Amino acid sequence: MKYISTRGKAESLDFEGVTLTGLARDGGLYVPEEIPSFTADEIRAMRGKTYAEVAFEVISPFVGDCLTEGELKRMLDATYDENYGGQFRHPAVAPLVQTGNNDWLLELFHGPTLAFKDFALQLLGRFFDHFTAKRGEKLTILGATSGDTGSAAIEGCRGRDNVSIFMLHPKGRVSDVQRRQMTSVIESNVVNIAIDGNFDDCQALVKACFNDLSFRDEVGLTAVNSINWARVMAQIVYYFTSAVALGAPDRAVSYSVPTGNFGDIFAGYVAKKMGLPIEKLVIATNSNDILARTLETGRYERGEVYSTLSPSMDIQISSNFERMLFDIAGRDAAVITRYMNDLTTTGGFTLDSAHYAALRDLFAAERVNDETTRSVMQEMSASAGYIADPHTAVGVEAANVCLPDNGAPRVTLSTAHPAKFGHAVKEATGIDPTLPAHMADLMDREERMIDLANDVDALQARVREGGWS
Ligand SMILES: *Cc1c(COP(=O)(O)O)cnc(C)c1O
Repeated sequence: MKYISTRGKAESLDFEGVTLTGLARDGGLYVPEEIPSFTADEIRAMRGKTYAEVAFEVISPFVGDCLTEGELKRMLDATYDENYGGQFRHPAVAPLVQTGNNDWLLELFHGPTLAFKDFALQLLGRFFDHFTAKRGEKLTILGATSGDTGSAAIEGCRGRDNVSIFMLHPKGRVSDVQRRQMTSVIESNVVNIAIDGNFDDCQALVKACFNDLSFRDEVGLTAVNSINWARVMAQIVYYFTSAVALGAPDRAVSYSVPTGNFGDIFAGYVAKKMGLPIEKLVIATNSNDILARTLETGRYERGEVYSTLSPSMDIQISSNFERMLFDIAGRDAAVITRYMNDLTTTGGFTLDSAHYAALRDLFAAERVNDETTRSVMQEMSASAGYIADPHTAVGVEAANVCLPDNGAPRVTLSTAHPAKFGHAVKEATGIDPTLPAHMADLMDREERMIDLANDVDALQARVREGGWS
């Protein structure tokens, strides 16, 4: 399997190459040259398989011959099977919970850091380990987090021999639980950096480091944010396990996906292209509504970033949307380059009408404000006794608004454990969700981090210094 850049100017790479590279050198994102697909019979044959087994089916074609079957199987078992050391604390790994006649939650928060990002990052750490050892190289991971990516990436990479990780977060803008999940990992290869700015500033600093090719080569820079293809790939799996459990390929399913960087929902789109009968994909956003506005107006335009109850979605530029555009524009890199240049120079671009129509055919979108998010949490608690986190509540509301209650299952991705956003949950429901046992002492653990200004040179200087001595 080869991977090509959405901007058409970077060399094509194999799976090992894209995993270690992250962002393409032409500023684009890597996508598979061809999306593999399954027949209905092949999908039917996934019934009754374990999560790790379905992961093997779904992921194998993307990996190609970069890993042997045995190597990939062992990594997937070690990640997703408790019997082999997997860290997901639920036998189904990604359990479905029914909340109404046709309504389901897909709980993606049973991993070590209590958000769906563990699904990809627990696996990515193993890929890094394997490929760097094989090459005899070292990697520097640089990422920006609005909260959940950072802790999941740190958990996936902590203590790994050839990897050091520098994680930026916007100072004072992540929850205490989120910050402590990162800063309480006292490991010499883990450096947490609080940036004086918002999440988009952090992301811009990371991009600037990646676009500085000499710096990038000097330190062996690699990305763990959702521009890394391997992350999107790992997230395709739970669309398969959940849809098959609900009757696919013989019954269509729709998904509502709380969306920030468009990574998780793009994985759903890829699952659909692979043959899974997905009827609609709902883009659920909070007040940071660039994607909802794009679906309404056909214009993608940067807006102000608002702080909301669902901070992991407080993002105005959705990086992975570029992958989506590439596909609906017939994989024409010239079109993407034009759109992205307009975005950089004028702050937005207008979709060609055919692209806009294609987008509206695949997706629906709903913007959910904090007030509604609170009332959804309150109502779910009162009527179903279910305590949802605010990101999940945004998804539930969007499913209700955008999807007909017509017998086809409506699945909302439940992206975080309520205790991760305990303050917002308590305010809405009166219930203070408790952290799982393995994290009960989180608030008492020692923290380690440094503060930096929103400045590329300062950041590069710190990264050159390496991990803690
Ligand atoms: C990251 C995150 C999201 C958004 O996912 P994207 O892939 O960036 O769209 C939603 N909810 C939670 C809890 C998250 O951590």
